[in-house]
Amino acid sequence: MNKPVIICVDDEKIVLTSLKSQLQHHFGTQYQIELAESAEETLELIAELKAEQQAVPLIIADYVMPGMYGDELLVRVKEQLPDTLSIMLTGQATADAVGEAVNRAGLFRYISKPWHEKDFLLTVCTALDSYHQKLEIQRRSRFRQVLANVISLALRDGDLSQQLHHALDSLLAIPELGAASAAVYLLDPATDRLQLQISAGNQGAFSPHLPLSGDQHGCQFFQPLTYQGHTMGALGIINNDGVQTCPELPELLTSYGEALAGIIQLKQYHEALERHNAELEETVKRRTQDLQTALDQQAKLNNILLEANRKLDFYASMDSLTSLYNRRFFMKLANSEVERAKRYQHPVTFMMLDLDHFKNINDQYGHLAGDHVLERISHLLTDESREADIIGRLGGEEFAILSPESTMQQASLMAERIRDRILQESFEFEGQHIHVTVSIGISEVDVNEEHIESAMNRADKALYKSKGTGRNLVSIAGL
Ligand SMILES: [Mg+2]
Repeated sequence: MNKPVIICVDDEKIVLTSLKSQLQHHFGTQYQIELAESAEETLELIAELKAEQQAVPLIIADYVMPGMYGDELLVRVKEQLPDTLSIMLTGQATADAVGEAVNRAGLFRYISKPWHEKDFLLTVCTALDSYHQKLEIQRRSRFRQVLANVISLALRDGDLSQQLHHALDSLLAIPELGAASAAVYLLDPATDRLQLQISAGNQGAFSPHLPLSGDQHGCQFFQPLTYQGHTMGALGIINNDGVQTCPELPELLTSYGEALAGIIQLKQYHEALERHNAELEETVKRRTQDLQTALDQQAKLNNILLEANRKLDFYASMDSLTSLYNRRFFMKLANSEVERAKRYQHPVTFMMLDLDHFKNINDQYGHLAGDHVLERISHLLTDESREADIIGRLGGEEFAILSPESTMQQASLMAERIRDRILQESFEFEGQHIHVTVSIGISEVDVNEEHIESAMNRADKALYKSKGTGRNLVSIAGL
């Protein structure tokens, strides 16, 4: 690599020779000393050096020269090389010219001719230090910016490849790396190998796969990317022109690698979290569907059960032979009807009916004939009663009718109608005619104080009165 250049400009050769001798002696190992005899020659020299990308830390210029004064030359140099420091060396410059050079060209020092060698060399040394310090500050600022850029990626949206792409671009922009190429490898846990994730610059310079362990893998810089001791990938940098070395570059690349590892970890963690959330949502969705299916099935079963219970209730409330209410259910309905009648002070009558000599029918014609008679009687009672009446078979040949909104007179008429109907009815069973009569007792429920049981007892007594006085009769309780 070429050394940085110190340019000396003077129209007197003897001055140039002296300057070169002194500078070469003290700075020759680190710097290249270039001489120019005119401003024009200087500008040509600078153009060449710029084309070769050679650094020019310092220019030492005479003031009085043919064609262009030193102050004007230094202004022109400043335009071309803004970082280059300048020293003016003359015995003839005016204060105005010096001021002009200071103000417009950023003149570092003014030294009078003839110069004192020690002072001159000290001034040059100070200028070179100042130049390098300034570059150092600029470099540190660039390095800080690279790291800041990488860290800021943690807050940006985008997938990992996009973020690594930004990170590599930011790194390769620093001049200290020259025309470098960079790549990020990620560890593939399945194969335990490094897999090329993204590269920038000369993309063909990197192998698609690398073993986890190994040396530099052909890179000028190769750093494993680790997070909390866990290897996640690697950063590789290749520069065939030779990486411009500066003492801080390895430190920058190490910090950069650590920041990159953090970004990768964060992104992978984030992606894992998103995958986990998606799986969780899917699981919740599936479970919700399963639950809904189970609930639907439960609802169907409940409906089936309700229907079964309803049927069970119905069958439990009915007498299977006559399809009238059985005793238990008749009592339940009758009680609630009486309660309602008591609430509204409405009349209710109760009728007890018992077929006469029914045992004889069973004995004479058989039980099937008896059952046939009971069935026919149930239809007949339903025919002769009103819609609101509650009819039950209390047991054997005994029936009961509770009539809401019914007076004793109305009940008596209905009882007579039933008694007469049964008397007149022709009961046929297997060609045999069966004669049937009924005895009836009626009572009226006292809605002020009575319960159904006492009205029932009184109707029962009236029924026995009918039985005791010849049967086929209607008797009224209390008469
Ligand atoms: Mg001169």
